[in-house]
Amino acid sequence: MFWPALTEEAVSKRVFSCLEKNINFRDNILLGIPGTHLDERVFPLEDLVRDKPFLSSFVANPNHIGMHTDGDSEVFFNGTHQLEVEAIQLCAQEIMRAKAGEYNGYIASGGTEANIQGIWQLRNYFQHKYKCSLAEIAIIHSVDTHYSVYKAGNLLSLKTLPIDVHFETREMDISCFELALKKAKEQGVKYFIFFANMGTTMFGSVDEISTFTPFLEKYGDDYWIHIDGAFGGFIYPFTHLESKMNFSHPKVSSITMDAHKMLQAPYGTGIFLSRKIFSDFTFTDKASYVKGNDSTLCGSRSGANAISVWMILNSYGSQGGIEFCQELIERTDFLCYCLDKIKVKYFRNPYMNIVTIPADQISEDMARKYHLVFDRVEKPQWFKVVVMDHVKVEHIDAFIDAIC
Ligand SMILES: *Cc1c(COP(=O)(O)O)cnc(C)c1O
Repeated sequence: MFWPALTEEAVSKRVFSCLEKNINFRDNILLGIPGTHLDERVFPLEDLVRDKPFLSSFVANPNHIGMHTDGDSEVFFNGTHQLEVEAIQLCAQEIMRAKAGEYNGYIASGGTEANIQGIWQLRNYFQHKYKCSLAEIAIIHSVDTHYSVYKAGNLLSLKTLPIDVHFETREMDISCFELALKKAKEQGVKYFIFFANMGTTMFGSVDEISTFTPFLEKYGDDYWIHIDGAFGGFIYPFTHLESKMNFSHPKVSSITMDAHKMLQAPYGTGIFLSRKIFSDFTFTDKASYVKGNDSTLCGSRSGANAISVWMILNSYGSQGGIEFCQELIERTDFLCYCLDKIKVKYFRNPYMNIVTIPADQISEDMARKYHLVFDRVEKPQWFKVVVMDHVKVEHIDAFIDAIC
């Protein structure tokens, strides 16, 4: 993994030069586009944002509809599409180890959309390749998986097979995993979508795919893996450089990363990455008014979000990213060290910045006072701490003082 850090000036210069390559709404006669700059009566920002690249992108309001990593796309916003292409390239090639020319991707609205997109294209792939029915496809995943997997199952009419985990390790029970595959096979399921977590929302736990693939080989006629790195995508690959939770694994078809979580981009910014051979299966040639057509779920979307990802990645560089994540890991280590000292139990993946405490270990009042996240509203079993950038050592100290 390597890309250089650019100076603030270089980042700004590049963004403005790409914005200038777009056909802008003010200086051209654009009679046919159903879009324009931000409403200037309500948002009179022009003068304020003049030398600020992200805010200028926001006001200029380019539309990034479609997928830009491959084939044609809308010419009006070519300039900033290029920044999206470069942001996707860094995520796919440098962070997620895809080979040049063998991936596609786009900046999605968030992790939910990217997860649905990953399952959608696999569903269509199986249907196309094997002429199978929906009943012959199932999604297998741990019970700790984000609820977007159930949205995907519901929208795409696919059954979901949630697998129990061990209470303490949060690892899927292997015999439950095997039994679920066996039962599904007996009921006629032939094709499996393994929805693997690279950092669950509540625990930061990671489903090591190599533990489960032998069973998928055994019971499935075919299977592919979607990795949900919505939370972990911008920390786990930086703290665990040897990880195989990426495209270096030959059965990984797609990966979700959220830029609006660990990358600190504005909300509405997820990332979808796909092995190239799969992205055609959501392609619709009915999007006849969009140049290059469209294989994404969402349609029109803000180019400013893509530009924010490009800016953040290039401002830090890979080394800056590694150092940023390392710093969070050290603070998380410190929290765990303090919890050990006062004999409070917890779950933590050592490469992640999430610490999850069983509800019987600390009082609910304290969990509320320090705004920990509960695994459920009624009768919680777990409270979660996420060591984000704003969680400093003095906050951890205050929390530990309060609970001991
Ligand atoms: C947050 C999260 C999602 C959903 O992402 P949104 O961006 O909120 O749609 C999916 N999976 C995991 C593991 C998450 O943490």
